[in-house]
Amino acid sequence: MLDQIKQQIEHIKGMGATYVDTRWYPIEETNTLTMWNGNLKEATFVRESGIGVRVLYQGAWGFSASSDTNDLAGLYIKAFDNARIAAERVTLPVRLAEKDAIQARFASPNRINPMEVPLAEKVAFLQQMDKKLNQSGVSQRITSLNFIRKQIIFVDSEGSEIEKQITEVFAQLSVMGQDAQGEMHERSFNLGQVGKNTRGWESIDLQLFSENAERIVGELNEILVAEPCPKDDRAVILLPGIMFLQTHETIGHALELDRILGYELAYAGGSFVTLEDFGRLRYGSEKLTARADATLPNSPGSFGYDDDGIPAQNNILIDEGILVGAITGRQMVEEANAKARRQIFNGSGGANRATAFYRVPIERMTNINIDPGVDGDLGDIIASTERGLVMDGARSWSIGSNREQFHFATEIAWLVEDGQRTRVVKNPTYMGNTLEFWNSLSAVGNESTWKVEFVPNCGKGQPNQIMQLGHGVPTCRFDHVRVGE
Ligand SMILES: [Zn+2]
Repeated sequence: MLDQIKQQIEHIKGMGATYVDTRWYPIEETNTLTMWNGNLKEATFVRESGIGVRVLYQGAWGFSASSDTNDLAGLYIKAFDNARIAAERVTLPVRLAEKDAIQARFASPNRINPMEVPLAEKVAFLQQMDKKLNQSGVSQRITSLNFIRKQIIFVDSEGSEIEKQITEVFAQLSVMGQDAQGEMHERSFNLGQVGKNTRGWESIDLQLFSENAERIVGELNEILVAEPCPKDDRAVILLPGIMFLQTHETIGHALELDRILGYELAYAGGSFVTLEDFGRLRYGSEKLTARADATLPNSPGSFGYDDDGIPAQNNILIDEGILVGAITGRQMVEEANAKARRQIFNGSGGANRATAFYRVPIERMTNINIDPGVDGDLGDIIASTERGLVMDGARSWSIGSNREQFHFATEIAWLVEDGQRTRVVKNPTYMGNTLEFWNSLSAVGNESTWKVEFVPNCGKGQPNQIMQLGHGVPTCRFDHVRVGE
């Protein structure tokens, strides 16, 4: 098969294409299980395989994909024809940044392949967790497992040949309960990075989940009898369970280069960031350093090589508060440099990924992380806060289409008064303008507060592409934030 792919690439190259690549997925498997109040609500196993071909001809892309690999020649000709027809209409010819030809392999670190674990063992885990969550105050309990395993073989006309074996494990526990006023509240636990080692089935650690099951039930019961969140201007101290979403929505999406160039306008929106802003815009206080780090060991945002065949990189996006980088791929960096009439980007940032063989790669977040800071642990940050709210758990979010402002509701919050964490409040919310908010960053927790949260379902692109990634974030404090509205 590999030889046939290489022959076809050569053939299309011979017809005048400037670039051809192929992503062959010999196998992709997805296994999802959900238990709702003790009943197995969902147990699906999906297996697919296929091949996707991109052809660049006279500055225009053509794409074709099929799960039928019997007529490879037809598939490549279709991609070529699509490019040829598109080339008649192209206004801005596509140029690709230079790259090295690479022969390599990558496998996400895992010990036990989750696809080989018997269904009975997975169901038994869900039942055990369901039992733990089935306690007073809890009216709805959900436990879920989601496994992805895919093999991707990338070959291009520039001499690259890369094989990837990606294994992802996601898991969630969630409890809901009704307070005396009839309002529903929720508390949940999502599996993130455990240690730095592996994330196969072995990361479904019974003790870890049991401890967290007990914790979220206890916290839900505190929420159920809590007073409402005050309407107020005060500091918010965001734990990683909400800090990851703040980073995702107001740094990650805002800094996708295709989005900045307007390619997501018809769907997810644009970005308030312009090409003039790179190297100049103050995006946050001096305490803010953010990066796109695809080299972080063991996270869904670490994948070895992107779908342009570019090696994983660790790129600074915001350097002590100044915007310096974006989430980029081969095509967009060239387009951005040309439009800005200056060299903003020096080659691809290695962030072009497709969700499946039948989608084209687009710029996707890798691990969009915030560096740990020097303001101590959570206790230190609370102790230095006069009036604040410690917030955790993403409940709902709404964000301006250009990411210029946001409103988030969290699952739980604790009041902070005179340096002491006091009681839980219910229905906590906070809102702000992106730049004003990041500029009010007044404390960044040390390594002990830093945690890698996983995102299994980031959506982008038309047709929609769901992507997996991570966020390594510390606990952070922001001053003078509007809360409770
Ligand atoms: Zn997203």
